Amino acid sequence: MQDIYASLGISREVYEFGEKILSGLRARFDAIDATAEYNQAKVLAAMRDNRVSGACFAASTGYGYNDLGRETLEAVYASCFHTESALVRPQITCGTHALALALSANLRPGDELLSPVGAPYDTLEEVIGIRPSVGSLAEYGVTYRQADLKPDGSFDYDAIRAAIGPRTRLITIQRSKGYATRPSFSVEQIGELIAFCKGVKPDVLCMVDNCYGEFVQRSEPSDVGADMTVGSLIKNPGGGLAAAGGYICGTAECVERCARRLTAPGLGKEVGANLGQLPAMYQGFFLAPTVTAGALKGAIFAANVYEKLGFACVPNASEPRYDIIQAVTLGSPERMEAFCLGIQAAAPVDSHVTPVPWPMPGYDSDVIMAAGAFVQGSSIELSADGPIRPPYAVYFQGGLTWYHAKTGILMSLQKLYERGLVDLKGIN
Ligand SMILES: *Cc1c(COP(=O)(O)O)cnc(C)c1O
Repeated sequence: MQDIYASLGISREVYEFGEKILSGLRARFDAIDATAEYNQAKVLAAMRDNRVSGACFAASTGYGYNDLGRETLEAVYASCFHTESALVRPQITCGTHALALALSANLRPGDELLSPVGAPYDTLEEVIGIRPSVGSLAEYGVTYRQADLKPDGSFDYDAIRAAIGPRTRLITIQRSKGYATRPSFSVEQIGELIAFCKGVKPDVLCMVDNCYGEFVQRSEPSDVGADMTVGSLIKNPGGGLAAAGGYICGTAECVERCARRLTAPGLGKEVGANLGQLPAMYQGFFLAPTVTAGALKGAIFAANVYEKLGFACVPNASEPRYDIIQAVTLGSPERMEAFCLGIQAAAPVDSHVTPVPWPMPGYDSDVIMAAGAFVQGSSIELSADGPIRPPYAVYFQGGLTWYHAKTGILMSLQKLYERGLVDLKGIN
């Protein structure tokens, strides 16, 4: 085994260090496999119950009327998430679009949107109008309030109660920390928060940004009271195969509003050609539980490798996981570049490319990104990025297989090791 890794450029010292770390992770990996097994059965049941057949894979064009494959895929998502309805389309361009759609479809002028979990994901700032932007909810007369988390990352229930007013129509809850430093939330915690908010105002709608969280646990936010559960198909539920798309699973009423906003009032879910994307969307969803498990193992392996070397990791080496993102604080720009070079060098696509820090819109510092993906921007595929500023943390996620995630992490360590940026000696 060491020979094949050596042929990829991974030295004996790095390989053996990795194996030592791995020997302590078997029990956690077994638990992840059990979750994947449970979720595989859940997806399979949804496909059987909705009688998925070869006829579902046919391409449709134009209006896409009577599209059996599209309607069945949406029924499969609804069954799996235990919701009345679902909207799952390649026309939903990404996660941000899915979230913007769910918000704009379900809010009306004069309504207020509340985030009880602090600031939302960066791209949502322009959707909401926290940063002024053409077409934002603010331009349509929807106001926004936020209740910040307590310093320990827990919900500030007093602040949330105070923030819910007569105009509060929709509550947006982000499951994953994204690129922030707060903890990610378990489905159980989200359930408690939804119950609290509905206790204060029973008619409020609760939406969960489920990006990066799908299939990490056995249940989803839709199982604990979310009216809409929303995410991207180039993350977990696309299983790495979906070429594009997003989903919204929820109550029939909420999803119908989303469909009418995506297409047009009066048309709703009835139109929307699948353009030949359905085979990958079905097969990706079928593979998603095992793909997510591989990404989770990679995140845990990385946390254990880098924590052992003295770098702060969020989540840390032993904490439970509620999404697939791993942050590693490397402490210097040189280490960030070496780390990203390793992830890139281990990619199946563009492995010959050297990532360099670059100015990016919306960031006040240069950003470095490593990604060699089959699908552009897909972050269920192994990828890493981070802004070049203190504390010099990289965020990394994904891996279509556990073995690829493992190779990427070993390669990142190899690059750090070759450049003398880590010390493997004296670590047992
Ligand atoms: C990725 C992500 C989004 C946005 O998804 P895109 O597909 O990049 O537009 C929103 N929220 C969270 C928590 C995410 O991780």
